[in-house]
Amino acid sequence: MLQHSLQTPIEYLKGVGPQRGDLLKKELSIFTYQDLIQHFPFRYVDRTKFYKVKDIHPDLAAVQIIGRVVSKEIVGEKRSKRLVVTLKDDTGLLELVWFQGVQWLDKAIQPGSVYIAFGKANEFNGRFSIPHPEIELYNPSAKKLGNLTLQPVYSSTEKLKQYSLDTKGLQRLQAAALEQILKDIDETIPAYILDKYKLMGKQEAFLKVHFPPDTSSLEAARRRLKFEELFFIQLKLLKNKLLRNHKFRGIRFETVGEKFNLFYKERLPFDLTNAQKRVIKEIRQDTQRGIQMNRLVQGDVGSGKTAVALMTMLLAIDNDCQACMMAPTEILAQQHYDSLKKLTGDDLVNIGILTGSTPKKERKKLHEALQDGSLDILIGTHALLEDEVQFKNLGLAVIDEQHRFGVEQRARLWKKNSVPPHILVMTATPIPRTLAMTLYGDLDVSVIDELPAGRKPIKTIHLYENQRLRMFGFIRQEIAKGRQVYVVYPLIKESEKLDLLHLEAGIEAISREFPLPDYRMSIVHGKLKPADKDFEMQRFVKGETQIMVATTVIEVGVNVPNASVMIIENAERFGLSQLHQLRGRVGRGAEQSYCILMSGNKLSREGKIRLETMVRTNDGFEISEIDLQLRGPGDIQGTQQSGVLDLKIADLANDQQLLHQAREEVIQIFDEDPELSQEKNELLKNYFLKKDRHITWNNIS
Ligand code: ADP
Ligand code: MG
Repeated sequence: MLQHSLQTPIEYLKGVGPQRGDLLKKELSIFTYQDLIQHFPFRYVDRTKFYKVKDIHPDLAAVQIIGRVVSKEIVGEKRSKRLVVTLKDDTGLLELVWFQGVQWLDKAIQPGSVYIAFGKANEFNGRFSIPHPEIELYNPSAKKLGNLTLQPVYSSTEKLKQYSLDTKGLQRLQAAALEQILKDIDETIPAYILDKYKLMGKQEAFLKVHFPPDTSSLEAARRRLKFEELFFIQLKLLKNKLLRNHKFRGIRFETVGEKFNLFYKERLPFDLTNAQKRVIKEIRQDTQRGIQMNRLVQGDVGSGKTAVALMTMLLAIDNDCQACMMAPTEILAQQHYDSLKKLTGDDLVNIGILTGSTPKKERKKLHEALQDGSLDILIGTHALLEDEVQFKNLGLAVIDEQHRFGVEQRARLWKKNSVPPHILVMTATPIPRTLAMTLYGDLDVSVIDELPAGRKPIKTIHLYENQRLRMFGFIRQEIAKGRQVYVVYPLIKESEKLDLLHLEAGIEAISREFPLPDYRMSIVHGKLKPADKDFEMQRFVKGETQIMVATTVIEVGVNVPNASVMIIENAERFGLSQLHQLRGRVGRGAEQSYCILMSGNKLSREGKIRLETMVRTNDGFEISEIDLQLRGPGDIQGTQQSGVLDLKIADLANDQQLLHQAREEVIQIFDEDPELSQEKNELLKNYFLKKDRHITWNNIS
């Protein structure tokens, strides 16, 4: 078969050649013409808009300034040698700085002339400067290039720039590539769908996304390409889901039996919330169909996921099956074990626990009890996945805190029974719905969006460094009431040394303020050996220490109802969802709980929004939506590991509506034509037949 022109290796493109070709592969993963034209501009500069120096502020992505060059000098030696140019307009002075091409630029830039400079301005000692700006002589009578008032900006790297592949260089390549292959770009979306959503053709979209004649056609081009990307992701996900429904038989949980009813009527110490009831009902429906359930239950911390899990496990047991529940750490497994024991009493079901530290003898007993069916529920860590762990009839596997477990682990659970067990994944990370839909498009999602009644919302306060004494006073008060306190420090790889220093200084300050023997503290951070960490945690859990100083290792799951205060140091450095997770460690008992966010006096705009959001709301979903807006989906917890979000143009924070449309459309298509055998869907059928996919996609289920 002839190679499709889109797959031509990039080095053959005019202006590339072997050396730049290698660089494009290494630096941007551009191997073919197709990869190049899918290297979309990440923004467009409106070259008709100019800023005045006085209007510059550090949150602007980039500014374009017209000014006269009033001074120019080369400063520094060797590596720090740089060209500093001062530009002046009628409102102030702006510095332009280059570290590269110093000699050449020094010759080219003429003092006294007027230039247009463009770039991202940083604030430095109260003055603004632009590192490596684009610069050109201002010529008021010149016509704009073509009528391109919107100039695309491509991401590039220092190395590529050395070989003239900056944004302008890349645009030249786009022009060369499109000239050759535009006519070979095949339409991938069926005509009736293009019509229905008023989508531009694919060739036109590629042309206009790289060379937009005006804003409205740029928007139309981007909309078309985003729709395509989201549409095919959903097409693939939902096809898998359909396939699974055909392929994997599931155990039928036909009856709601004795144990479930007894527990519900006599043992459950509270009324279920409506949300809990709804989710249990959804699970009931799922497990009656004879198809394997794969359900994600999302619920904010404290929303009562454990009760839902337990009742599902009882359902399994009533249907002659066993159940297991896997937690990410030993402490969490132990906590689940204790709380399930307490909830069910001694006689209802037989529960065991298996972790890495279970002694051999104990293990052997557990293995036997699992195989002869006398053990109903096994709680544990990763140890559950080991091959020796064999069940008589595993009907349900519950996984707590999903993002700690990967795909293979879920698959290993499947294999523990001849008919794959139903899977219930529980996560407290409030993933925005849109993201969940994309990430777990083939899992069904249930949401517990209601906290049990009577829970006192956590009060959140933001204090600045100079209010630290107030914070200490507050801790003292709470400890005097018998409460316990967390103090959490950031510890980030990039700034590890400095962070550890802060942690040390913090520990010292707290030891001074809260001396022995009246006060005792636990210290937990990632550098500790697991056994030591456990020991320190246990002391706090048992109430032997009143203050827990920790780095974020305590983030997941720990339950100490008597802890009523969460102090977060350098709170401005944590992401929103992390702050919310940390705050969720308190507010688990009957007492009023508090979260105190400590920060420096200077906050970035984003830092300010994060802290304000935390103070304003306790709603995990609202917080996760704001987090998504602020950071983009790449940074949302849980998405890195799954590696699914290799989106080239769509953006989950801003394209939610488009995602819904694409998903609805796909659902309708499969409803009507599950085999994609109708003529109008031929392109879609081809998509699955073709080898060279347009979208790379790691399926996670
Ligand atoms: P999470 O969803 O964070 O795992 P848990 O299941 O640990 O939450 O529940 C938190 C606390 O709330 C537990 O002490 C649990 O017993 C209690 N709880 C759960 N559901 C309810 C309810 N419907 N009414 C009152 N308390 C509840
Ligand atoms: Mg939990």
